Amino acid sequence: MTVLQYDPRPMTTCVVTGGAGFVGSHLCDALLEKGCRVICIDNLDTGSLHNIEHIRSGEFEFMNLDITEEVRVEGPVDFVYHLASPASPIDYARLPLHTLKVGAQGTWHMLGVAKFKRARFLLASTSEVYGDPQVHPQKEDYWGYVNPIGPRGVYDEAKRYAEALTMAYLRQQGVDTSIVRIFNTYGSRMRAHDGRAIPTFLRQALLGQPLTVFGDGSQTRSFCFIDDLVSGLIGLAESREHLPVNIGNPDEYSLLELAEAVIEASGTDSEIIYEPLPTDDPRVRQPDISRARETLGWEPAVTLEDGLKKTIEESGRNRLVGELD
Ligand code: NAD
Repeated sequence: MTVLQYDPRPMTTCVVTGGAGFVGSHLCDALLEKGCRVICIDNLDTGSLHNIEHIRSGEFEFMNLDITEEVRVEGPVDFVYHLASPASPIDYARLPLHTLKVGAQGTWHMLGVAKFKRARFLLASTSEVYGDPQVHPQKEDYWGYVNPIGPRGVYDEAKRYAEALTMAYLRQQGVDTSIVRIFNTYGSRMRAHDGRAIPTFLRQALLGQPLTVFGDGSQTRSFCFIDDLVSGLIGLAESREHLPVNIGNPDEYSLLELAEAVIEASGTDSEIIYEPLPTDDPRVRQPDISRARETLGWEPAVTLEDGLKKTIEESGRNRLVGELD
């Protein structure tokens, strides 16, 4: 008798909004690597086809779609990773209304997809929900100190609204939701002119220009390498946690120390110059990652020194100096 061989487990399908962006494209790579089918939704506002052009898998589908409009996805879906949103201060200053709309309307639409498909939903939120924190380091039960009418308010409040909406879908509709609060992350495929500290410093260093540090450079940030973030996102999506989880690297550096680390990693001899501090720039930013450690067994593995070297190797000079932006 012939026994038909077949794998009774259907393939896991993941929808990734913002999948042509910096974080989203690395997440698509990792999910494909795990053997998942990936539907990448992006309107290429701040993302780029360059970020996904290397993907050759037949299990990958790209949908050029604005999620603030109607979203229809064919077939079964197991996970919705909702990352689409302008993410750098330059982008949300340029697109303030769109930033609010994508946090509100876009999140409604994607929660609707998760509900209809009975999929697990992951909202990419941000450490910006803590505003200019009055406690340090930040735990998830700290409610934040956000200026709603400042220039960063459109992003911070959109994310806070998206978190509230996500919890309402969990409580009222029973959708299986999760929320990740991402702290500053870096790696290849960041845009050289997106205004964030690491790509700006790398571009300036590789062009032999002075590195521009805002204020006196004593404000702090913690920097997580992209591979660590992506493993945290997948770990959280595959867990049963519903409460927000901080994912970031608790090693804290002043902006001045970061500039020095970039000069060291890029092997240039650029000098450092100082410029005025932008409005509402947080003074400190450091995650307390106890919840991620306890619930996901997650912690970052890549040091800033190694992460900067990998970013330079994986990006190539053209990308870092902005020729592909
Ligand atoms: P990114 O700008 O590279 O990616 C965002 C993607 O969303 C882009 O590809 C963009 O085209 C897409 N997008 C925007 N509006 C859309 C719309 N209406 N419809 C479809 N696609 C749309 O930014 P990123 O750094 O990869 O950030 C990804 C997510 O992670 C964002 O939600 C951001 O708020 C969050 N986050 C990132 C960081 C970080 O350090 N990179 C920190 C905190 C939070």
